[in-house]
Amino acid sequence: MTSGEHQHVDYPNGSAEQGSPDVPARVAGRLAELGHQVTTQRLKLAELIFSKPQHLAAEDLLRMALAAGIKVSKATVYNTLNLFAECGLVREVNVDADRLYYDSTTIPHHHFFNEDTGELSDVPMNSVCLGDLPEPPEGTETAGVEVVIRLRNRR
Ligand SMILES: [Zn+2]
Repeated sequence: MTSGEHQHVDYPNGSAEQGSPDVPARVAGRLAELGHQVTTQRLKLAELIFSKPQHLAAEDLLRMALAAGIKVSKATVYNTLNLFAECGLVREVNVDADRLYYDSTTIPHHHFFNEDTGELSDVPMNSVCLGDLPEPPEGTETAGVEVVIRLRNRR
């Protein structure tokens, strides 16, 4: 890791297009393509999720939905996030034993995770340099490597 230059994360796939009107269309298209129902609630939740690149736990999304006046149950929020993950619209980030985060950015990238605050933030792929990776076990190949850099506040 020699590069001291600060790099910005790029979102070339438009996986988190900022408040773009295309969000409902893209989500609806993906759901329909995979044979899932396109409901108003799902699309409203999608608009919140993809309003900016972010990491959300189910309870965060529920809070945002209620604040935005979207009438939705806790179960619907959980099910919707689960479904979106299954459809590849969001990515599950498993860094915290207490809660699962969903990432609105689906292109591969690394993360900082602050264990004191629970805050998760993006680290661009090219700012981490990985050396010798072990040979994958017989009959397998490496599908990707994502790094979680765990942080704690200085004491
Ligand atoms: Zn992320």
